[in-house]
Amino acid sequence: MKALAVLAAFVLFLLAACTPAHAPPAQCEKRVRQIFHADTDFTVNERAALVAGADDLLGFTAGQVHQTLFFDLDFGSTSSVVAQSRAPMLVRTQSWTLPTQAVDARMSKRHGRPVHVWAWTMPEPVVRVFMVVDRIPAESFRYIAAHELAHAAGFAFPGCDPALEDCDHVSDPGSIMAPAYRGARSFSQHDLALCRASCLCP
Ligand SMILES: [Zn+2]
Repeated sequence: MKALAVLAAFVLFLLAACTPAHAPPAQCEKRVRQIFHADTDFTVNERAALVAGADDLLGFTAGQVHQTLFFDLDFGSTSSVVAQSRAPMLVRTQSWTLPTQAVDARMSKRHGRPVHVWAWTMPEPVVRVFMVVDRIPAESFRYIAAHELAHAAGFAFPGCDPALEDCDHVSDPGSIMAPAYRGARSFSQHDLALCRASCLCP
C-alpha cells in the first residue's frame, strides 16, 4: 500500500511539474484609472463629446481603461490651476495660441510639410490633453477625444523606438488610432492590436 501511495505521489508530482510547460502564456493585463480635470471653457456640446469619447474607450477596453472627467479646471483662476497642476488635464485650445503654433511647427518639421494638429497629448511629466477646438469638426470631436484619451491611457507598441517609428498609432487610415484622423467612427482590428499590445484590451 505504501509503495502505491509513493507511486501516486510521484505521478502527481510529474503531472504538476508538467503543467506549466503546457499552459498557455499568461496574457498581459493592465488597468488604468485616471481622473481628468477638464477646462471649464469647453462648451456643452464639446463636454458631451469628450465624455462620449471616454465612454467609447471604456467599452472598447472592456473597462480596463476607466477615465473620469471633471470640468473644474478654470484657467481664469490661479488657485484652480495650481490645485490641479499634478493631475491629468484636458485643455481647450485654439489655432492661434502659442502651444498650438509650437506643436504645428514641430510636427511640420518632422513630416517635412505643413501640419496643423487637431489635438495632442503630452504624457510626461503629467498627462495633458489639448483639443484645438476651432479645427475639429463637431461630428469628429468624440472620436478625436477617444484617440487622445487612448494616448493618455498609454496605448503604444512595446519594444518600439519612438525616435525611429510611430509607436502609438496604427498605419491603417480607417482606424481611430490612425496618425491623421480620416473619419473612423469605431475602433478597428488594428486599434485592437495596438490596445492588446499595450495590455489594455482583453
Ligand atoms: Zn495620435
